[in-house]
Amino acid sequence: MEIKVVQADESQRKPKPTDETKLGFGEILADHMFLVDYEAGKGWFDARIEPYGDIAVDPAAMALHYGQEIFEGLKAFRGNDGGIRLFRARENYIRLNLSAQRLCMPEVDVDLAMEGMKQLILLDRDWVPRSHGTSLYIRPTMFATEPHLGVRISTAYLFFIIIGPVGAYYKEGLNPIKIYVEDFYVRAAIGGTGEAKTAGNYASSLLAAEEAKKKGFTQVMWLDAAERKYVEEVGTMNMFFLVDDEVITAPLTGSILPGITRDSVIQIVKDWGMKMSERSLSIDEVIEAARGGRLKEAFGTGTAAVISPVGQITYKGDDHIVAGGKMGELSQRLYDEIVGMQYGEKPDPYGWVERID
Ligand SMILES: *Cc1c(COP(=O)(O)O)cnc(C)c1O
Repeated sequence: MEIKVVQADESQRKPKPTDETKLGFGEILADHMFLVDYEAGKGWFDARIEPYGDIAVDPAAMALHYGQEIFEGLKAFRGNDGGIRLFRARENYIRLNLSAQRLCMPEVDVDLAMEGMKQLILLDRDWVPRSHGTSLYIRPTMFATEPHLGVRISTAYLFFIIIGPVGAYYKEGLNPIKIYVEDFYVRAAIGGTGEAKTAGNYASSLLAAEEAKKKGFTQVMWLDAAERKYVEEVGTMNMFFLVDDEVITAPLTGSILPGITRDSVIQIVKDWGMKMSERSLSIDEVIEAARGGRLKEAFGTGTAAVISPVGQITYKGDDHIVAGGKMGELSQRLYDEIVGMQYGEKPDPYGWVERID
């Protein structure tokens, strides 16, 4: 499918951030966006790149009422050599299509989405920041547009991609985060939509996150919905623990998001010859290991922060300090390895990085 391009004129262009050290997350968006429409019986049509701006949505659009919305999050990185690189980008669109299946939405053409994304980034290449640690965040999104108030599957959708420069995800930067283990609210149950990146999962997590924030925590650690016993994820990150010499992360049983960073960490840890287990881990086992000094490190993984070390875990009112409240050796090594590949500074034996400019 041909992608029609309408470039922003001078009046539609926005000022670029002048101080890259002050970049936040998701606050600034670039000059253009990629869009493509879908109608049942017709398929995807009218792929286009346009100046960034409002989109018209019917008040009866089904996404607004019944929540058919899915999204992705990935990044483009500019290395010291000026090159712009993507990290395992195709897998984000493959995962988007898994989310689409779960929400009864149409699958996108992965090649078209990749092509639209690349053309968009190259058109707005001056928006890819240059300082180390900064990147261009990419947000592919699909939602139901058909105006209809009866509950059923929508017959029309819009898929779009918006992009914008971002700095470090957490205010604390790479400083370890404080985690509140949530033993009342749950994020997702097996059989539900936990493994899809869909809006409702995040809407339903806000209250717990807000209550934890008020108590001084950065993020919530979710336990399984059935027993409130097994560790699932933290906020929008998958969770890893280093207990003695075993690296442990929860298995993909349907209620957690299959993170691409999670998968990268698993492969790297295995290649480093460490013991890597995808297995259920109870919160009691974590706390016992922490008490016995055997919990060496804990960290979250996700595109936004890559590796986010955990310095404190609080469960049922007891604080447990992890790795002396500092970034652990394994967390640092994994961060350096993945970020090094993303910026083209370290070899990429996995073929994960694609240079596009
Ligand atoms: C996006 C996301 C992750 C991390 O996935 P990555 O592909 O590593 O960015 C983990 N958990 C949840 C709930 C997420 O939304």
